Amino acid sequence: MISKQKITSFDALIIGGGIAGGEAALNIANTGYKVLLIEKDLSIGGKMILLSKVFPTLDCAACITTPKVSEISRHPNITLFTSCEVSKINKIDENNFEATIIKKPRYVVIEDCTACQLCEQACPVSVPDEYQFNLVGRKAAFIPFSIASPKAAAIDIENCILCGACEKVCPTNCIDFTQDTEEYQVHINTVILATGFKLFDPLLMPRYGYGLYKNVITSMQMERELAPTRPFNTILRPSDGKVPDKIAYVLCTGSRDASIGNPICSQICCMYSIKQSQLLMGALPMADVTIYYINIRSFGKGFEEFYQQAKGMGVNFVKGKIGKISEKENGNLILRYEDINENRVKEAEHDMVVLSVGVLPNQDATKLFKTDELKLDPYKFIHQVDSLLSPAKTSIDGVFVAGTASGPMDIPDSILFAGSASSEAISYLIQHK
Ligand SMILES: Cc1cc2nc3c(=O)[nH]c(=O)nc-3n(C[C@H](O)[C@H](O)[C@H](O)COP(=O)(O)OP(=O)(O)OC[C@H]3O[C@@H](n4cnc5c(N)ncnc54)[C@H](O)[C@@H]3O)c2cc1C
Ligand code: SF4
Ligand code: SF4
Repeated sequence: MISKQKITSFDALIIGGGIAGGEAALNIANTGYKVLLIEKDLSIGGKMILLSKVFPTLDCAACITTPKVSEISRHPNITLFTSCEVSKINKIDENNFEATIIKKPRYVVIEDCTACQLCEQACPVSVPDEYQFNLVGRKAAFIPFSIASPKAAAIDIENCILCGACEKVCPTNCIDFTQDTEEYQVHINTVILATGFKLFDPLLMPRYGYGLYKNVITSMQMERELAPTRPFNTILRPSDGKVPDKIAYVLCTGSRDASIGNPICSQICCMYSIKQSQLLMGALPMADVTIYYINIRSFGKGFEEFYQQAKGMGVNFVKGKIGKISEKENGNLILRYEDINENRVKEAEHDMVVLSVGVLPNQDATKLFKTDELKLDPYKFIHQVDSLLSPAKTSIDGVFVAGTASGPMDIPDSILFAGSASSEAISYLIQHK
């Protein structure tokens, strides 16, 4: 049930609080305009805040992201709504949009929560932790992750048994089960879409055994195992908690494959796998790491050197397409593959396999616009109507796109695109004053 309708206005609406949306929000807010930043998750930071380190510099992702997210949360010109979604946007006239925003209840008053975690300790319900990509559990009363912003608890009402244990221990009485969904009507003059990307779901490729064989994990799960805020104190394989010593990467899982509906290159998987292989060589010096690839696409500045560095550290690169993965009784995995250089089918045994999952479009934004059509490109990313001269322009005048909402890209490119979208939005605001 929706409890209230509130009417308010801002200069710019930004949808998506990942690195692209956050950067665009800061750029616009720093020029004096009022920004409403809408994030559907419990924390801003997108995928980047959950990464280990970044290629090719190996800077710590959390160390770069946390100052940004804290600047976004505290900026006087940015109003941040988490656990929120835009349900519709109508273009009234030239630079006049009206958006309806639905704010889901968190059941915790963010401003009063001190993140003391007493509710977490008291809660008797455990469920898989989506922020650790289900490698460990969390409670139904939980703080999403240690560097979340806002850093406040939330109640997972789907799994809550309403026992009241969290309410009893909360020292600030900020748990409020009476919270309801709220609706806001917002007037804005420009919109930036920064809804990011979706990860390919490897369950769609049953021949790789994800979901069936515990020691087949995704690259995002390996990011968590390598991150400073990691679930375990070292790298462990899920089936028996053993430290792996023969790890394989399967590149292009869900990318460059028309048979699963995604013919394009995801642009980031080669490089993030090479990054992870270097971090693994550091964390587990005795381990063998093998990367199975179709082509290594190390096209950016410093990328080829980063690739050569991994080879120099002893990472094995095998040009081969993986046909099938099967499991042995001890949890080890047999990879059947075509060795492209030797032109023959081979098998290799590994004790852990990482699927380097690709980038898919998030089509959330398409259904928002009721009065105008937001066009998509042939791959279902947001169409850039003038990709050479004004890459942030969409098919709707006054609506711009930032980051991976328009296609696969890495963090520096997402930030560049956010710069483009925010400067286009600022010029639009100035022109239509
Ligand atoms: C395993 C892995 C490792 C990587 N390693 C690196 C690396 O080392 N270096 C590098 O440069 N890049 C790396 N990347 C790529 C990097 O994650 C992306 O370039 C970056 O996250 C893109 O940022 P974004 O803001 O465009 O999208 P996202 O990070 O996807 O953020 C989008 C945000 O929008 C929110 N959102 C989505 N839909 C809605 C909606 N309808 N309403 C409101 N909010 C919404 C999401 O919740 C999210 O917070 C890696 C990616 C993966 C998968
Ligand atoms: S009321 Fe719900 S969230 Fe609170 S302790 Fe009980 S099960 Fe956990
Ligand atoms: S909701 Fe209460 S008990 Fe839970 S972290 Fe916040 S202040 Fe602590």
